Amino acid sequence: MRKLYAKKEECCGCGACLDICGKEAIRMVVDREGFRYPKIDKNLCIDCGRCEEVCPVKKKGAEKEMHRQYFGVQAKEEKVRYASSSGGMFPVLAEYVFRQQGVVYGAAYDKNMRVVHREIHNREELDAVKRTKYVQSSMKGICRRIEARLKEEQWVLFCGTPCQAEGLRLYLKKPYPKLITADLVCYGVPSPGIWGDYVKHLEGKHGGKMTDFSFRDKRMRDSGHTCAYVVGGKEYSGSLYADAYCRMYFTNHILRPSCHQCRFCTVERSSDLTIGDFWGIEKVKPEIDDGMGTSLVILHTDKAKEIWKAVQEELSWFECGEKDVLQPRLSGPTESAKSRGIFMGFYRVLPFSQVLRLYQVLASGRALLKKIKK
Ligand SMILES: Cc1cc2nc3c(=O)[nH]c(=O)nc-3n(C[C@H](O)[C@H](O)[C@H](O)COP(=O)(O)OP(=O)(O)OC[C@H]3O[C@@H](n4cnc5c(N)ncnc54)[C@H](O)[C@@H]3O)c2cc1C
Ligand code: SF4
Ligand code: SF4
Ligand code: SF4
Repeated sequence: MRKLYAKKEECCGCGACLDICGKEAIRMVVDREGFRYPKIDKNLCIDCGRCEEVCPVKKKGAEKEMHRQYFGVQAKEEKVRYASSSGGMFPVLAEYVFRQQGVVYGAAYDKNMRVVHREIHNREELDAVKRTKYVQSSMKGICRRIEARLKEEQWVLFCGTPCQAEGLRLYLKKPYPKLITADLVCYGVPSPGIWGDYVKHLEGKHGGKMTDFSFRDKRMRDSGHTCAYVVGGKEYSGSLYADAYCRMYFTNHILRPSCHQCRFCTVERSSDLTIGDFWGIEKVKPEIDDGMGTSLVILHTDKAKEIWKAVQEELSWFECGEKDVLQPRLSGPTESAKSRGIFMGFYRVLPFSQVLRLYQVLASGRALLKKIKK
């Protein structure tokens, strides 16, 4: 019986195996930490091995020695930049693809606030896929749809985590001239199950249905250190770092196990370009740092360099070197919290409201330890 992974760390949940299986023998099953993992139905599987061929964890990447270019970037149109998580490079790329009558794939909320990749077709729909969602997105059916679009000779922009982009590349098997893959600098993805519980928790607390959650809201002009959400038509906001879910994420308690051993935490990628936040902009180029976000852009391929030429008029930008951009997630994966195991142990057995309370206890214990060590 074929097995797609032996340890949880060996599956990043990209969903490429699910899409490639012509026998529909794979389905995603949610584990007790709230992450999706593929499961093979032995009665349907014909042991063809295609699922292993597309797996970005098993397959060595096609990263090659290339002349990469590094840029700091801000969309010139202020409302474009303010509505994005960092400098607005993604929406500028998306607009380029729309001008070619192409389609764009990014992560959006569905009507139940689950995060899913979806296809969008024009500027009006773009808002849904803008902005960072700190939740692992579902890629179900996306590789298949992208392949169909490419076979119709359409332009396609895909933006997602590096492992999703690599799963897509392996799925497609051959390069397509009209496909642009933009992957993210990636801290790691939190559990969709825990996110779902948090949404329910906030809905219960405020009495209504959640319709939006902005992890990096810039309306306070604080470079996205505020998060804001809407429940029952009313908006609530607060510091990103005081929000319980975001704290669990940033303290590394709820990341997918594969993220702690990720091989994509480097500048070497197989995508066309990489986008992220330009960490340290205040040191590299203080004169342009207005606190409203600057994207880091790394161009890997000739195709990306061509597109760069076509969009650079819409951007304020400067070129820099690799050493200027090397933030932690470009030199190694995020370490797991020492108390992740204890936390997840609680999560498996306790009601979510109690898990939140226990997390506060763990967090204050950590703060106390830090004080004692000082
Ligand atoms: C989980 C996660 C972790 C990140 N960690 C870092 C980091 O450590 N360092 C860093 O510099 N940058 C990180 N980023 C990237 C950063 O937050 C911005 O998304 C990126 O700079 C693009 O911003 P933008 O202004 O160009 O476009 P935006 O308009 O903000 O577009 C964001 C793009 O990311 C895609 N996206 C949003 N959420 C998800 C998701 N859950 N899964 C897959 N794709 C998604 C959207 O579809 C869109 O294409 C992370 C992003 C995510 C989603
Ligand atoms: S071996 Fe082939 S049939 Fe079996 S699950 Fe993998 S892709 Fe599907
Ligand atoms: S292809 Fe993706 S979802 Fe499937 S086993 Fe590999 S990492 Fe997991
Ligand atoms: S950290 Fe690595 S494994 Fe985790 S989502 Fe990002 S690219 Fe995938």
